[in-house]
Amino acid sequence: EGRWFAVRVAPLGTHGLVLVLAEDLTEVRRVEAIRRDFVANVSHELKTPVGALSLLAETVESAADDPEAVRRFSIRMQHESMRLSNLVQDLMTLSRVQGDEPLSELHRVAVDDVVAEAVDRCQIKAEAKGIELTVAGPSGLKVRGDEELLITALRNLIDNAVAYSPERTRVVIATRQADPDHVEISVTDQGIGIPQAEIERIFERFYRVDPARSRQTGGTGLGLAIVKHVTTKHGGEITVWSKEGSGSTFTLRLPLLRGDSRPDQSSIAPR
Ligand code: ADP
Repeated sequence: EGRWFAVRVAPLGTHGLVLVLAEDLTEVRRVEAIRRDFVANVSHELKTPVGALSLLAETVESAADDPEAVRRFSIRMQHESMRLSNLVQDLMTLSRVQGDEPLSELHRVAVDDVVAEAVDRCQIKAEAKGIELTVAGPSGLKVRGDEELLITALRNLIDNAVAYSPERTRVVIATRQADPDHVEISVTDQGIGIPQAEIERIFERFYRVDPARSRQTGGTGLGLAIVKHVTTKHGGEITVWSKEGSGSTFTLRLPLLRGDSRPDQSSIAPR
């Protein structure tokens, strides 16, 4: 691995003296390469569903007199459109959270609400596989953050837990106060687990342990990158425990919002 320098030479006065300026470009080059890779990946990921859609549209046209075939192809077209729209949605979320700017819309957020909403949004997929989503709580804990982004992050973790688990298993979502200053929300599954050597890489954009399996379950490969950036933006961190063949636990650790013991409006409302 060499280093890249930009060298500028400027004459100083009339005595033949020159000023030599060297600027280290290694980091600039590295960032450029990452950006190029990302654009190439995005293009590749977009090409697949777009290609499939145009092929299906042609096929459906030529099968117009076979209602059963038309029905089959339309279902596949819906599937591919959904994939495309998930990808675009995830790209938009990622571009919002991966920059350096701090989050603008910060509010007092009840962790129990985040959990309830995320679980709600994953319920249909879980039921389709006979997977029971169990919530341990309520915790009554609060954080400062962007509620919609926190729901998105937790939803990605629960979606993954469901996607990478066999049918009729259990996913547990638990909240606890880990220490005086932190809340932990964990998602535990009884799924396929992640090989130790890959754990470090799963938070990279488009990294998948098993690309075929990820695509089959409708994964965009961006979920955990989004989770990581949302967590970092909230001053938190994410950790993973996993054992191949037994399951995984993803834990979101967030700074606790303290010094505010006022009850929620909802809990003081008359019954
Ligand atoms: P994807 O859309 O592929 O699920 P993610 O960024 O959410 O993308 O996850 C990246 C990869 O990490 C997945 O493709 C999968 O290989 C692995 N992974 C994520 N969550 C789990 C889990 N709960 N159990 C096993 N593997 C997982």
